[in-house]
Amino acid sequence: MIRLLSRSVPLFTLLIALWGSAGSRLALAQDGSQPPPVGGMAIHVVQRDETLFGIAMQYGTTVEAIAAANGISDPRYINVGQRLLIPNARLDVPGAPLTHRVAPGDTLRTLAATYQTTADRIAAANHITNPARLFIGQELTINQGAAAETGTAAPPRGLYRAQPGDNMLRIALRLGVPWRALATANGLASCGPLFAGQAVWLSDGDGSLRELPGPLAAFTITPTPAVQGQTIALHITTEGPATLAGTFVGYPIQFVTHDGNQHVALFGVHPFTAAGVYPLALSMTAPDGVQTHLTFSVRVDDGNYSTEMISLDTQQQDLLTTQVTEPEWDLVARTMSVFTAQRYFDGLMGLPSTGAITSQFGTRRAYNGGVLSTFHSGTDLGGAPGSPVLAPAAGVVVLAEPLPVRGNATIIDHGWGVVTGYWHQSEIGVRVGDVVSAGQVIGAVGSTGRSTGPHLHWEMWVGGVQVDPMQWVQQAFP
Ligand SMILES: [Zn+2]
Repeated sequence: MIRLLSRSVPLFTLLIALWGSAGSRLALAQDGSQPPPVGGMAIHVVQRDETLFGIAMQYGTTVEAIAAANGISDPRYINVGQRLLIPNARLDVPGAPLTHRVAPGDTLRTLAATYQTTADRIAAANHITNPARLFIGQELTINQGAAAETGTAAPPRGLYRAQPGDNMLRIALRLGVPWRALATANGLASCGPLFAGQAVWLSDGDGSLRELPGPLAAFTITPTPAVQGQTIALHITTEGPATLAGTFVGYPIQFVTHDGNQHVALFGVHPFTAAGVYPLALSMTAPDGVQTHLTFSVRVDDGNYSTEMISLDTQQQDLLTTQVTEPEWDLVARTMSVFTAQRYFDGLMGLPSTGAITSQFGTRRAYNGGVLSTFHSGTDLGGAPGSPVLAPAAGVVVLAEPLPVRGNATIIDHGWGVVTGYWHQSEIGVRVGDVVSAGQVIGAVGSTGRSTGPHLHWEMWVGGVQVDPMQWVQQAFP
């Protein structure tokens, strides 16, 4: 499985993505006539609000089996975005309904090929009248293998699910394709056994199962659906060199390009963006100046944030006057919206304080009985006054000064539009221009500024939008 998860084989990453979406939402027949398990191994990407018990139920396996396969000692703790190996998953049962989450380039035709059914059946099952209206993040119910029931031959290209006892050589012989090409396309060096239900890519890497428009060779967006207050990562490969730009819900998207045709962008979905489907507009400029404009529809889900009433005494209320709050907001917003082409962060972030979480990001807030007009713009971590504040990732200090509302404040630019802030500190331990490393002490927990007790407010902006920093502790970017 180590090889399966290798990041050095882009084709295989796409395969895992397809495999993950196929396997992650398997639902069993409702009538109780459950088919026997086929003993396959699936990879499940943990979604928000999922439990190990629920996941085990989905795949017809047990919490113990999943915990053992993933070295989980306490089954209560799994992380959003975590990839779990699911042993003995019930997979590829012909006619078993599953839910597919639409990804860029998915069409009814590619889905029909992937799940060995027909476009008409998918359209009928999902009441789709206009196939052009599929949107990224949409959930489709698909009865996989429905085509096989009616005698329609499975396409010789696309995804093939390994049967018990299959290996690359056997599949290659059966389908009349060179086994070496098959092994290369699947990132597998040998002709060793495959686990039942394993997805095998049957094309030579040329016939993608995504119908992406012309200039795009590959396009992934994670996570899908997008959620209010979360960070979204776009990974795009263009067929030739290009410069990319984009917008989403009114905010510009800035891309970083390497090797001419590999493009990455991170952007935030504002926590007040109403749940719905929004256009993601992309523009690509070729070296000769020719521009291509593309629009994808992306679903945004509700973040299910709670509400909170906060009481402030008179002295603290004085700090809420706009003469104080507005200039400070302008300074913070300007500083947190910087974009630096150099990337300092790498993978998961650490927590900036060892204290427990006392208030989560996104909570809708009202002050002294007012309306719910604001939201909590960061994660509050408790902690004894004076306990260390740590940089969660490498970066450059771009602000380090006392502010009336945020108290002793530090802002770190991690590159690529990712910026974090640390408010209410008792002490600031760094200066503007300092390059900090992950885990470095940058200050101390306190209660300066508008604060009701010692805590660290940890705030993150991505692409000029306030997002939940805790996502970065659980999901590795870029
Ligand atoms: Zn806070």
